[in-house]
Amino acid sequence: MSGLDSLDVEAGYDPLKLSEKVRELVTKRVDGVEERRYYRFRRDRWYGGIATGDVVGCNLRCGMCWSWRSASHVMIKGFYCSPTQAYRQLLNIVVKAGFRMVRLSGGEPTISREHLLELLRLFDNTELEFVLETNGLLIGYDPEYAREISKHKCVVVRVSLKGCSREEFYKITLADPRYFDMQLKALENLVEAGLEPCIRVYPAVMLSFSSSREYENLRSRLAEIDPMLEKCIDEEYVILYPHVKQLLEKRKLKPNIAYRPDGIPESMI
Ligand code: SF4
Repeated sequence: MSGLDSLDVEAGYDPLKLSEKVRELVTKRVDGVEERRYYRFRRDRWYGGIATGDVVGCNLRCGMCWSWRSASHVMIKGFYCSPTQAYRQLLNIVVKAGFRMVRLSGGEPTISREHLLELLRLFDNTELEFVLETNGLLIGYDPEYAREISKHKCVVVRVSLKGCSREEFYKITLADPRYFDMQLKALENLVEAGLEPCIRVYPAVMLSFSSSREYENLRSRLAEIDPMLEKCIDEEYVILYPHVKQLLEKRKLKPNIAYRPDGIPESMI
């Protein structure tokens, strides 16, 4: 098994079942501690500068994912880290760079639940902010997971919605379209668990494949969960790195709006 596309999915797959398969390949237990596969640790420019650990493995297969070759669509790359090892790596970057924020990126961090919660506990003892970037599926599925995350003072959760509707979710991820609702449920669970909308939890939305009408519908749905949520949407668009273009072509996906890596808009129509 090469690791690349080692869990190629059927259209309409169940991301919760995929989570289980991925978990088996990207986590292991050593002396009672859950370790997670990481691809790398690095400085990144987003959020004004953030220490980033890229985890391996995701429970979706988005057709515009920037990390598909190295982290999200692969399962056996990288190296295992305990929460303490990951904490030290991130802290080391923060100290050297003078950053105030850390995050996990690359794949889906919530797949390794114990690992993630222990990492949050460790960062609670600092003044740093931990940005939890997630597709939210596992948090939408389990309100208790939302409650466990919300207990941590360091955490800010960014739930990245894959499109504005079930149809767009399916187009982007190839997953069972009903799971789009579970992404929204994650926001609901986190707000109910006590995270303040727009301060401790907010939605991001991939809009490259959306019509303005579908975006308006989504805004209404977000406002139904909490009126604040539609005021702090982080709008995401595809960045056309060569390897992202390769995946888009493979998946026959055509963004309505996308950006070149130098930030210039590129019309794909
Ligand atoms: S959810 Fe994020 S990490 Fe996972 S495949 Fe989609 S874009 Fe990539």
